[in-house]
Amino acid sequence: MKEVKILYLYPDMLELYGDYGNIQVLKYRMEKRGIACVVDSYSIGDAKPDFSSYDIVFAGGGADNEQSILAEDLLQYKEEMKVAVQKGVFFLLICGAYQLFGKYYKGVEGNVIPGLEVFPYYTEAIGDRKKRCIGNIVLEVALKKEQPTKVIGFENHGGQTFGSVSPFGKVLFGNGNSFGDKQEGFFMGNVIATYLHGPLLSKNPEVADYIIEYCLERKYGETIALQALDDRFEQKCREQMLQRLLKSKK
Ligand code: GLN
Repeated sequence: MKEVKILYLYPDMLELYGDYGNIQVLKYRMEKRGIACVVDSYSIGDAKPDFSSYDIVFAGGGADNEQSILAEDLLQYKEEMKVAVQKGVFFLLICGAYQLFGKYYKGVEGNVIPGLEVFPYYTEAIGDRKKRCIGNIVLEVALKKEQPTKVIGFENHGGQTFGSVSPFGKVLFGNGNSFGDKQEGFFMGNVIATYLHGPLLSKNPEVADYIIEYCLERKYGETIALQALDDRFEQKCREQMLQRLLKSKK
């Protein structure tokens, strides 16, 4: 039986927006196909994990305060994270975690939280707690260069991210990396770093399957064609959301 191993970072501190749902969706979509999914977690005080031994490293969103508390702990793994990215481990990073893998995150109080500098972007919050990018968001994303797909989510961030040289998607509705930006997130073949909560994968089964296929092909060295699942409910919800959000744009 094929197996995918997930490392879930700081579940006790980066779970303000329910991003754990992404792990539940991945686990569900793998187990439905007879693929084992093992989930380990790591937080402050735990033994140092072997990041490169995992197929997926996942971290979610959180408040500025929690980000500043865990940043010190996270920074000790800067080199290991860079190696894991280079080796092709898949990184799924949502909002607060997305910010911390960049150069730095300057919070709403003006405090600068040093980032891992794994990716070239940086983030600065506007010094006004009321000025946050909050609401539904729709992107156009080209996961495998073929036909682009629409990705739906919910954003809630004060941080404005700049310098994302390789965005996850083009903004069709909502803000994106900063107010009124036309681009959102950061994407490489094995990295999706995005502001999209939702949880992201519950609204976008195609993105979940992209991650599963990537991990299996990398680990087992064979082309994977995942058996289709019954996504009628997900597709119905997507149609409703796209109708509501994109029609209102016209
Ligand atoms: N605290 C960060 C911000 O406000 C990240 C928020 C989040 O993870 N949703 O931008």
